[in-house]
Amino acid sequence: MTPSSQCVESPADILVIGGGINGCGIARDAAGRGLRVVLAEKGDLAGATSSASTKLFHGGLRYLEYFELRLVREALAEREILLRAMPHIARPMRFVLPYHPSMRFDAETPVSRLLGLVMPWLRGRRPAWLIRLGLFLYDHLGGREILPGTSRLDLRATPEGAPLQPRFETAYEYSDCWVDDARLVVLNARDAAARGATILTRTEVTDAHAEGGLWVVTLRDASGSRQIRARHLVNAAGPWAERVARGIAHAEPEGHVRLVRGSHIVTRRLFDHDKAYFLQGTDGRIIFAIPYEDDFTLIGTTDADHADPDTPPRCTEDERDYLCAFASAYFRTPVTADDVVWSYAGVRPLYDDGTRSATAATRDYRLSLDTGAGAPMLTVFGGKITTYRRLAEAALARLAPGTRAWTAGVPLPGGDFAIEDGPALIAGLRADYPFLTEAWARRLQRTYGTEARAWLGAARTVADLGQAFGATLTEAEVRWLMTREYATRTEDILWRRTKLGLHLSAEQTASLAAFVEGLSAAA
Ligand SMILES: Cc1cc2nc3c(=O)[nH]c(=O)nc-3n(C[C@H](O)[C@H](O)[C@H](O)COP(=O)(O)OP(=O)(O)OC[C@H]3O[C@@H](n4cnc5c(N)ncnc54)[C@H](O)[C@@H]3O)c2cc1C
Repeated sequence: MTPSSQCVESPADILVIGGGINGCGIARDAAGRGLRVVLAEKGDLAGATSSASTKLFHGGLRYLEYFELRLVREALAEREILLRAMPHIARPMRFVLPYHPSMRFDAETPVSRLLGLVMPWLRGRRPAWLIRLGLFLYDHLGGREILPGTSRLDLRATPEGAPLQPRFETAYEYSDCWVDDARLVVLNARDAAARGATILTRTEVTDAHAEGGLWVVTLRDASGSRQIRARHLVNAAGPWAERVARGIAHAEPEGHVRLVRGSHIVTRRLFDHDKAYFLQGTDGRIIFAIPYEDDFTLIGTTDADHADPDTPPRCTEDERDYLCAFASAYFRTPVTADDVVWSYAGVRPLYDDGTRSATAATRDYRLSLDTGAGAPMLTVFGGKITTYRRLAEAALARLAPGTRAWTAGVPLPGGDFAIEDGPALIAGLRADYPFLTEAWARRLQRTYGTEARAWLGAARTVADLGQAFGATLTEAEVRWLMTREYATRTEDILWRRTKLGLHLSAEQTASLAAFVEGLSAAA
């Protein structure tokens, strides 16, 4: 049984539809302000877009091309605030941007059009000074204390140059952060619950209508349907937001959602250092190649319009081949389909600003507060993982004016330590639990932070952690995930609470599935 399965009788202050990052972020913030919050998620927490991102807390260097200065400034400033609150699941990362004078850029961006007017002889190329100017802005727009600024790199004599084709002699290196997106969502949900919110997973909102100024909301889960009442509705249904607003809540929010699919491939590890690459393509798009889960490289992403939120997004063969070809234009050893060990795709629920190209559509968020149905409903359009905390503050400013913002600087569960203490915590784990290898202890530190000890308990040997499923996953960890982190299915454990699905064999997965089924039946 998950910690949340209690009944809600009197009206909630806020009912949140959707357990992605925006729903869970709003639920946490609202609960911390003393509001009665219920969150309903029809699948698993982070089961949709919020586990399918590129996993960066970033300002979005690319968005400077579109003069999205508000978004870039807010996101840049958020990076360090978030990093401090979750130094276990997030970490600083350096990005290497190889530069070659012949590179061509998207001719349709506002910056390109401006350059076309004032410096037509460039014909889509970018002089190095302009790249440096962009990076200078990136370094300074949002302020930095922890993250180092931009530097220039001679690729001919550095490990960062070794995997690249020799024509790349120079690069610029800048900072952003890596984050485990799926765990970010779960930790927000857990913190919301710790502050009094009720988190209902595998619970779909099937109808909402206003009666006497309150929302009457129908929830459906495995045991059937029931109704609860709430003063406010928050529609954080991501790709389904418009469908929920119009189809379920019978409301007319201002704006439309534009669904844009983005795919990633995961390959065997392509390089031997811990920095990522920011690669610019001949089509004007950019992709990242990022060190992933120790043994792999994550490459993405794409932009393709996606018609229906109910069509599960998949990385198509065309998208896979596109990403392989894109990366192969940079790396000495071509990346082929044979190198791909896994792929995933997600649908961006963007605010439709009427642009033609999916790449150009704004990544900023919009909140629409609608009272036309007889009670207030706030609909979330767009948003980044990086801006979820600010989006939640903006939502609460609309829903509960007069309450105080509090989340900046407050750690998420397991994140109550200083960033620089991470290595000492890993060493401490190994000292107290000598059976942990370095890689295992690092995984636990990056997954659970200071909470790892809560389920390692008094274990003295591996056997004390119960059944072993492979790739360091044990019964003690699975029990923690199922009793404390809302996991109910094998895929919740292997692909969202952890990424151990990359390492487990089919037999090991089957034995885990049998265990999970047994535990669920007993609950
Ligand atoms: C390819 C890609 C790469 C990205 N990379 C980054 C990045 O590196 N950095 C960054 O900051 N951002 C990134 N983003 C953006 C970010 O991932 C999204 O903006 C964010 O995850 C959206 O979260 P959400 O909570 O709005 O939606 P979702 O995560 O989709 O959550 C909505 C939830 O609502 C639930 N739901 C829907 N209908 C109902 C109902 N009737 N009842 C109950 N529940 C319901 C769904 O099941 C779903 O879980 C990326 C996005 C994509 C697609």
